[in-house]
Amino acid sequence: MPPRSKLDRSCLADGAVELTRSFHEVLLDSLSDGVYFVDPQRRIRYWNQGSATITGYGAKEIVGQSCFDGLLQHIDISGKCLCHSGCPLAKTLLDGRSREEHLFLHHKRGHRVPVCVRVASIKSKGKIIGAMEVFSVITPENQAERRIRELEGMVFLDYLTELPNRRYIELKLKQALEESQSFGRTFGLAIIDIDHFKDVNDVYGHEAGDSALKTLAATLTASLREKDAVGRWGGEEFVLLLADSDPQMLQHVAERCRMLIENSGCPELMGQSLTVSIGATLLQEGDSTQSAVDRADRLLYTSKSRGRNRVSIG
Ligand code: GH3
Ligand code: MG
Ligand code: MG
Repeated sequence: MPPRSKLDRSCLADGAVELTRSFHEVLLDSLSDGVYFVDPQRRIRYWNQGSATITGYGAKEIVGQSCFDGLLQHIDISGKCLCHSGCPLAKTLLDGRSREEHLFLHHKRGHRVPVCVRVASIKSKGKIIGAMEVFSVITPENQAERRIRELEGMVFLDYLTELPNRRYIELKLKQALEESQSFGRTFGLAIIDIDHFKDVNDVYGHEAGDSALKTLAATLTASLREKDAVGRWGGEEFVLLLADSDPQMLQHVAERCRMLIENSGCPELMGQSLTVSIGATLLQEGDSTQSAVDRADRLLYTSKSRGRNRVSIG
């Protein structure tokens, strides 16, 4: 085989670049979401097929235009046009931050389309070289669903830790009792109480105590499976509801939570960690929410009286 000429090699290199570029374009064009890219002057440099489908404008009409040229005319919920003030792309080009907003864009045929817009900056060597927007249509159903989720979130959210609150856990516990009684599913319930938390507040202050509660909530969330639930029961007490549990699994999960918390340093407590005491039990036939919680609570106090930073199972 003759050696490749310089020309062959450059063709190969170009071919490789071409192949990569078109692969990414195929990938982006197969999304139903709109994706586009603007340079620092907010000129649109890339426009995928999803953008064309959602807006009615094809890439040929729009690439090279500025996003404030009046084609897309994003407006917010109050009807304010964002092209010259409040444009999420312009804000992200300035501060480099990602943002998400619900807006209405202008379709080529004239009507307004409600969209969820997510914007991120694109950087090269630390410098912002443009921004990309990914947008999807908010259909009436998902708008309604989103509102319901928002309302549910407000009712069931513990605002400090961003965990589900006691109301939510009580509801999940009721459901778990029904499922265990009707379908024989087994659930574990664990109550977690921070040891000597009053002293933590006294030494580091209430605000540091609040931050420590948030850190602990994040540790708990990260250590559970998707089908488990964790919530703030109140004050410095948390509850785990573990699906498809058995005594070994309950012991294992509770012990892992205890160990992870003991090994999480809280920056607000000068790197010191908290410890917790845990009482854990399986839901039993004939249990009510109250009887299950009472049993877990008694086991929690067994852990406290045996020296704290431990798990009691029963
Ligand atoms: P024990 O090991 O026996 O559980 O001791 P403890 O000090 O944790 O128990 P105690 O029930 O006496 O005190 C709980 C403390 O938790 C008292 C209260 O100041 C604190 N606490 C409850 N809710 C919050 C909160 O939202 N933020 C902060 N920072 N502290 C809280
Ligand atoms: Mg307590
Ligand atoms: Mg406590």
